[in-house]
Amino acid sequence: MTVVRPQGREGVDLWALGLLAHGGCYVLYALRGHAPDWATVVLANALLSSAFALTLAAVAQFHARPLPWWRMGLPVAAALLLFGWHVGDYRARQMSAGVVLPLQLLLTLWALWRPQAPGQPRGAWLISLSMGIEVLLMGGRGWLALSGRLDNADLLQLSPTQAVLFMMAFVTIILASLGFILMTKDRADAANQHLAAYDALTGVVNRRALLQVLEREVAQAARTASPYALVLLDIDHFKAVNDTRGHLAGDQVLRHVSQVLRARLRGQDLLGRYGGEEFLVLLPGTDLAGALQVAEGLRQAVQDAPCPWSGGSIAVTISLGVCAARPHAPGCAEALIDAADQALYAAKQAGRNRVQHGPAPQCAAGMS
Ligand code: GH3
Ligand code: MG
Ligand code: MG
Repeated sequence: MTVVRPQGREGVDLWALGLLAHGGCYVLYALRGHAPDWATVVLANALLSSAFALTLAAVAQFHARPLPWWRMGLPVAAALLLFGWHVGDYRARQMSAGVVLPLQLLLTLWALWRPQAPGQPRGAWLISLSMGIEVLLMGGRGWLALSGRLDNADLLQLSPTQAVLFMMAFVTIILASLGFILMTKDRADAANQHLAAYDALTGVVNRRALLQVLEREVAQAARTASPYALVLLDIDHFKAVNDTRGHLAGDQVLRHVSQVLRARLRGQDLLGRYGGEEFLVLLPGTDLAGALQVAEGLRQAVQDAPCPWSGGSIAVTISLGVCAARPHAPGCAEALIDAADQALYAAKQAGRNRVQHGPAPQCAAGMS
């Protein structure tokens, strides 16, 4: 059974179509002299313009942005008209190509970076570099034609300058394609990393990522002899929400509580979903007194903000267990969680909607 369907909306198909058009254009170029000019000149250049238009469409699709039709259609129509008109005039053709095609590439570069740059820009830089070179080459050739310094050579007598230009065009196509593939790969990697580290329901860090950070920070606190504290909290009577209002309401409460908690915490604190309706808060640089204050603030905030649900609201409270590491001898991560868990259990036993703390755990030497 297919669980995840490929989205196919990354622009890769359009980019590949653009490469095909590019290939078709070069096949027609190669046929010059053996096939009629309307094919090897007019159609070939219209195909090149279409290839650039498809590249622009691919970039727009990658960014999921709408593309006005004229940005694709107008340059292709202009190429058809100009090359049809100047089919026998090499100089005029070079000038036309030197205006229309670079403009298309500049439109693509604009779409690549504006209004917002890609999150992982190395692929976009590669595309920009290769398209920038291509703009200079084609614009330069148009300018040479305009200033009368381009001889009326034909592709049948390929001059060394033209050979270099052709090679450069191939290299830039390959580099730009590599850049586009890098862009899609980097975005997929970032999405996978996000999936691996964040809880899909609440958007906060998941248990796995939370424990990794905890291990790292506890070890650092030990090295720098700085205070460290944890708050483990659990929604009170959450099962009753599920049972009386349904699981969707339960899910909404989980999202709501995580938002309320997140809004109360400082930048360096880390909130994560530890289990079903349990959250863990990591408080680096915080001693027991500070952690108790934070925990009480969280408890109050959740109590004061009932969860909106189906035109009304659901009252929510939480119980919290606090544990701080020993100054100068922070405990190991597992022992800290265990101590916070015991404190949480005590808070439940004492009647819920309250904060309890336990003693700093002893940790076997050598454990981190
Ligand atoms: P207590 O005050 O002692 O914590 O009671 P409780 O009802 O909150 O605790 P209990 O452990 O009995 O119930 C937890 C419930 O949380 C049971 C489980 O079905 C539910 N739960 C766990 N994860 C999710 C989730 O992602 N969505 C929803 N809707 N419910 C969940
Ligand atoms: Mg509970
Ligand atoms: Mg629980």
